[in-house]
Amino acid sequence: MNIIMLGAPGTGKGTIGAEICKHYNLTHLATGDIFRDEIKRQTELGKKANEYISKGQLVPDEITIAMVEGKLDKMDGVLLDGFPRTINQAESLKKYLAEHNKEITVVINLVVPDEDIIKRTVSRVICSNKECGASYNTIFMPPKVEGICDKCGSKLIKRADDNEETIKQRLAVYYKNTEPLINYYKNEGLLESVDINIYLPTTKEITTAKSIKIIENRLNN
Ligand code: AMP
Repeated sequence: MNIIMLGAPGTGKGTIGAEICKHYNLTHLATGDIFRDEIKRQTELGKKANEYISKGQLVPDEITIAMVEGKLDKMDGVLLDGFPRTINQAESLKKYLAEHNKEITVVINLVVPDEDIIKRTVSRVICSNKECGASYNTIFMPPKVEGICDKCGSKLIKRADDNEETIKQRLAVYYKNTEPLINYYKNEGLLESVDINIYLPTTKEITTAKSIKIIENRLNN
């Protein structure tokens, strides 16, 4: 099974994706997490990626596609979170999967109004332990102990690109480059959208349950 999580930045692709991975024992491939790790380790790829990420822009397709395909080679049963983000990336993925006799099971598109995305993203904190990668929100989904990850006890940090100015830029980039993927995957018959109300205390559980139901329907039809 191969799943794509689609949605604007800050819609919960990482959080819901992690739950789906746990449920189906899939590998979680989050391009943003991989880039952040490369930046932290100051690799050549990290330095290059940071030039774009710090401005809220997309890392160029040739860099991103090569990185993802290198990882996919070693994986079976994957959830893609943050990839594809352009039509070009989607076309490359389609070609890659066809060549490897694999296919996309479903594309889950998370839908949150822009003003809620900004509210939620400026108050997001993430676990500093990359093996864990848990995400929290100081307003809507706080950790049990302030500044500490519930799951692994590591320090929680803010993402450098989670400030209002960069988020607005990331949203603009999303509308220009990534939103066209909604129609692309609709035409492929793979798109399923889930509307999210971020103000409910059980948003995560509700969205996870809806997503799993969608996947089950796909698997049984
Ligand atoms: P994310 O953690 O998914 O919000 O990604 C953080 C940043 O990493 C994005 O704003 C982009 O700059 C970069 N990035 C992540 N995935 C991709 C992708 N598929 N294509 C290009 N840039 C990406």
